[in-house]
Amino acid sequence: MQLKVYNTLTRKKEVFQPIKAGQVGMYSCGPTVYKPAHIGNLRAYVFMDELRRILEYNGYKVKSVMNITDVGHLVSDGDDGEDKMSKSAVATGKTPLQIAEEITARFMQDVDALNIKRPTLCPKATDNIAEMIAVVKALLDKGYAYQTEDGIYFSVEKFAGYGKLSGVKLEDQKHGARVEVNSFKRHPIDFALWKKAAPNHLQQWDSPWGMGFPGWHIECTAMSRKYLGETFDIHTGGVDHIPIHHENEIAQAECWLGHKAVNYWMHCEFMLIDGGKMSKSLGNDYTVADVAARGYTPMELRYLYLNVQYRQKLNFTWAAMEAAKSAYSKLCNLLLAHKNSNVQTDREVLDGYRQKFEEAINDDLNVPLAMGVLWTMLKLPKSNDVYKLALEFDKVFALDFDKVKEVESPALVIPEDIKAIAEQRLQARKEKNWAESDRLRDELAQKGYAVKDTPNGYELVLKQ
Ligand code: AMP
Ligand code: ZN
Repeated sequence: MQLKVYNTLTRKKEVFQPIKAGQVGMYSCGPTVYKPAHIGNLRAYVFMDELRRILEYNGYKVKSVMNITDVGHLVSDGDDGEDKMSKSAVATGKTPLQIAEEITARFMQDVDALNIKRPTLCPKATDNIAEMIAVVKALLDKGYAYQTEDGIYFSVEKFAGYGKLSGVKLEDQKHGARVEVNSFKRHPIDFALWKKAAPNHLQQWDSPWGMGFPGWHIECTAMSRKYLGETFDIHTGGVDHIPIHHENEIAQAECWLGHKAVNYWMHCEFMLIDGGKMSKSLGNDYTVADVAARGYTPMELRYLYLNVQYRQKLNFTWAAMEAAKSAYSKLCNLLLAHKNSNVQTDREVLDGYRQKFEEAINDDLNVPLAMGVLWTMLKLPKSNDVYKLALEFDKVFALDFDKVKEVESPALVIPEDIKAIAEQRLQARKEKNWAESDRLRDELAQKGYAVKDTPNGYELVLKQ
């Protein structure tokens, strides 16, 4: 069966064709290890994992490389502001190396807890500085880069293909609203390959241009080529990487190598929280630990991720998390019932489900549709054969179907902030402030809860 994937570069679903028969090289932009990953970041890695598992299900041998960015990612994603690592070091009184080690270890714990297969290789940026310097040097020698007072910059006007991934036009950028802060650049969106460091800068290395540190984009270009070769199959990341980071990676790599460097670019859409942006200031940049503190397991979280296809936005709410918990427990109970039955199921019936499952995962990773196939299959008369096929599907889902045991249907856990709104509404009703009570009912509905008034007060349920 053919695997089709959506290629951001061509804006089309394409039949996946590897460079080497039976093998796939894939590179994923990894975490910047200055603070713990939130559940939005982790969506990008669950997507990376699903892609790998689906490739493996299709019989490919996958070499997966994910970098660890431990230097050079500035707070703006461009060339302005402080290095995220240094900023975090100053704020915590630790060294960038200490922070990188702690955060990487924590990230790997989350990766393991969520059943994300560890990539074949996870190179650190700071272990590959010499390789980055070599690429910068080559780009300078070929005339694609220039030196300024504060670093080495890539000249976007030298690359005719600039903008092909995101559709950005150089002319619009020149006259657009973007404020130019670095007066040394020849074009506002020229980007740093190497930055010269002030003497007190925390992370710096010797280079042909003096002490300095690499730009964020050059890291991925140097490391992906080192570990996957000049042209490789798939490059992944979040959609936020399309307009700057990946556009710049394409420019550097193609100018350096003189040919196309990646065949398929695949991007995961964002996770939203309560329909909005996840941010520290709103206190909603939840980690796996925050989710666990509210009583949800990593497998329930993974179940929630898998129920939205990677190119759709995923709106995280506590009500959705609660619904995922309840669905996952039902799923496990059903699986267990099939496991414990000795009845057999016709081969053709099972083959039909297998076929539908494979069609779904091979249609641009439509995992939610594949999950629907599983739910329908579980309605069959209880049979150990059904359980065995579900275990095959779990090579893709990775939801621990081999560990199922009977669980009680979980009681609904109402988060404290939801309870507080319901209490305010009760108070408004006592004061006969119907407008306020209606407003609070709407607010609860927006967060996924319905409130039913009872003689003793109220009852909260999940909104249908
Ligand atoms: P960073 O550590 O900031 O470089 O981000 C790590 C990964 O998480 C990148 O692939 C981002 O595109 C992705 N990412 C960041 N925020 C979100 C979000 N809210 N939803 C999904 N992916 C995200
Ligand atoms: Zn990258």
